[in-house]
Amino acid sequence: MSKFRGYCCSVCGKEYTPDEVTYTCPADGGNLDVLLDMEQIRAQTSPGQINASRDGSIWRYLPLLPVGDPGHENTPLRAVGWTPVFRPAKLASNLGLKNLWLKDDGRNPTASFKDRASAVTVVRAEEIGAEVVITASTGNAGAALAGMAAAAQRPAVILAPKTAPQGKVAQLLMFGARVILVDGTYDDAFDLTLEAADALGWYCRNTGYNPFTAEGKKTVAFEICEQFSMLTGQLKENEWVAPDVIFVSVGDGNIISGLYKGLKDLVELGWIKKMPRIMGVQAEGSSAIYNAFTAGTEDIEPVRATTMADSISVDLPRDGLRALRAATQTGGAYIQVTDDAILDAMRALGRDAAVFAEPAGATSYAGLVKAVAESLVKADDQILVLNTGNGLKDVRAALEAAGEAKVIKPGLDELKAALG
Ligand SMILES: *Cc1c(COP(=O)(O)O)cnc(C)c1O
Ligand SMILES: [Zn+2]
Repeated sequence: MSKFRGYCCSVCGKEYTPDEVTYTCPADGGNLDVLLDMEQIRAQTSPGQINASRDGSIWRYLPLLPVGDPGHENTPLRAVGWTPVFRPAKLASNLGLKNLWLKDDGRNPTASFKDRASAVTVVRAEEIGAEVVITASTGNAGAALAGMAAAAQRPAVILAPKTAPQGKVAQLLMFGARVILVDGTYDDAFDLTLEAADALGWYCRNTGYNPFTAEGKKTVAFEICEQFSMLTGQLKENEWVAPDVIFVSVGDGNIISGLYKGLKDLVELGWIKKMPRIMGVQAEGSSAIYNAFTAGTEDIEPVRATTMADSISVDLPRDGLRALRAATQTGGAYIQVTDDAILDAMRALGRDAAVFAEPAGATSYAGLVKAVAESLVKADDQILVLNTGNGLKDVRAALEAAGEAKVIKPGLDELKAALG
């Protein structure tokens, strides 16, 4: 018997069998949560058993995922996840915090968090016999799908806005995907992708639409709890320990929803005792979920997104409801930050923690800075900040944050003058 039992709609609560639906709830378009057989999982594995695994990737958590053997050994598809967790002492002392941790998901095969979702979606596509996988993307989801599809030697089609940063477009092309740039927004590309998948019979990976993306993304919750337990000497046979607070940047809201789903799985299994507070951070120019959070409503109104953090530039968050609840149901909050604060965060992460983040990746840290200023966290809270993307993805933004280098004639006097 498979541990994958079906789906539950996040809006109406109706349950479906695995064969009944593919994407969203037919009744109301709500995002579907994957249902797993927790009894079976609990009977077959344990935190201690997983900790003994030598698999340094998301696949160490295969017993908790709704897919079978992923295959493709010794390819980048098997190297996704198990990203490092650092203890950035300088950042912590700058902020007056005692227990700060930084997980760097820029160190995935295609250099962003999105590999978690794309790896699981490609495996799902193979299981259901789908030929072509298509996705809309601001860049990273597409690069991740293109990379994972290349690892599995399968065709992928990517629709991205033509304004996507060049580094991301180069990645898409280099992995051999069919790349189409849309003269419009990410939201335009998203809608066109649904239409194309329907018309051409392709499998659609779209974020906040395909229920398997959140299942891939939930692996970050497992890693955070397992690694945090290891790093704080609290590893036990039957239990992991979660940090008190987790900061994550939010666009469509699928990463934060996946994180929350993974934590809920662990609570349901009895593998963690307390749910961390989840803090969602949005750019001021793209803050539809933040707006709903502060208004105290679950009705999420679209915005006209304008932020230099392209990966979280979203008019209508496609996973908004679950993303909102990740904060409201855990005692967390939503925070919005300016593009200037994001540039500051990029500099701080680079100089004081040696982590090179793209704008959307640094947004979570900008949120922490603001949370400290507004006393949303305490000095001795165990806090984990997630960087979701590597800075090389968007070199223009990096140079904007870091400034340009001086150019000199090759002489010692010129060098001394330049060094001041
Ligand atoms: C996609 C992405 C996000 C936001 O994820 P959502 O699921 O859209 O909220 C944040 N940072 C980076 C680098 C991303 O690629
Ligand atoms: Zn429904």
